[in-house]
Amino acid sequence: MGILKDAVSLLLPPVCSVCGKLADTSDRMKMKLPGDLVLCFDCLSRMVPEDKDRRWLLCLSNPYIGDPIPSMPLYMPFRYEGFFKDAIASVKFKKDRDLAVFLGSVLGKLAQEDNITGDIIVPIPLSHERQKQRGFNQALIIAQEMSKKLHIPVAKDILIRTRDTLRQSELKMDESRASNMKDAFAVAPDWDISGSRILIVDDVVTTGHTLHEAGEVLTRAGALSVAGIVLCGNRYVKNDDPF
Ligand SMILES: [Zn+2]
Repeated sequence: MGILKDAVSLLLPPVCSVCGKLADTSDRMKMKLPGDLVLCFDCLSRMVPEDKDRRWLLCLSNPYIGDPIPSMPLYMPFRYEGFFKDAIASVKFKKDRDLAVFLGSVLGKLAQEDNITGDIIVPIPLSHERQKQRGFNQALIIAQEMSKKLHIPVAKDILIRTRDTLRQSELKMDESRASNMKDAFAVAPDWDISGSRILIVDDVVTTGHTLHEAGEVLTRAGALSVAGIVLCGNRYVKNDDPF
């Protein structure tokens, strides 16, 4: 089957993994794309990061009373629109693992340029059901690629999902999204994270409640600092006091 697949791919012109248009293979060679990933020139040129002073935001726009980490920072270098909206859909629904690897390396490179530091990288875990459907956790893949660039280890089993939550996108009200995440995570008992500076990684941020809940749980378990690191999102609130 492998030989047949190779023979077929020699006959067919390469199409972009994100938009499906014909792609020039020389773009692929230049970018050293992982696995079978193909990206066309148009898609590559749509990957424009936010200006440096707009990449740090507040994780929650409206911290609630008693919030133990009201100034939790969020690093978000791209907007969830255009290329990134299409690319995230390809990762999630076409199960494109190579694309997740590529997106992780892009985020890692920017994080490196922006001198992001920490002691441990912790990906947001997927529910068992979704991991089974997709076959991989894109947040973990992104975290692993960031780890290669930043030389910070990934600890994929520190955060545990204690119960499956509804998809955040299925919930309308901001408040119900917050309560949907309450007690969604726990810290694995065999980890001692006291005094650690933790980078919590996810692919997309919407309200920030998922990352914030993870940050709260890690802070309660002794983390010195927590910061959310995501590829893209739709947030606008700027954080004047970067991490
Ligand atoms: Zn394309």
